[in-house]
Amino acid sequence: MEREDRDIKVVLDFIKIYCKKNHEGREKTLLNENNTWLCKECMELALYAIKKRRICKKDPKPACKRCDTPCYSAKYREQIRKVMKFSGIYYVKRGRLDYLYHYLR
Ligand SMILES: [Zn+2]
Repeated sequence: MEREDRDIKVVLDFIKIYCKKNHEGREKTLLNENNTWLCKECMELALYAIKKRRICKKDPKPACKRCDTPCYSAKYREQIRKVMKFSGIYYVKRGRLDYLYHYLR
């Protein structure tokens, strides 16, 4: 899998688990065939994250938080930080150390 696709898959997994655990009871729609059900708020964040990853010109891409030209708007940056923190802990508890790598970088 290409690095770009892998990054996108991970960020979607993070948003998926965040939405599942924090937004129960909201109406959800299906993002892709990967069984990713998201509420409206998380769907917007997911589409935004995909778009931003696709247009990132940096190669190799630095950690977003170390980037010299951060491209997320303040609103989405705050949102994705919350998601990464919550889901990062969730996955580490389940032994997904490969996800810890994504969380930290
Ligand atoms: Zn949600």
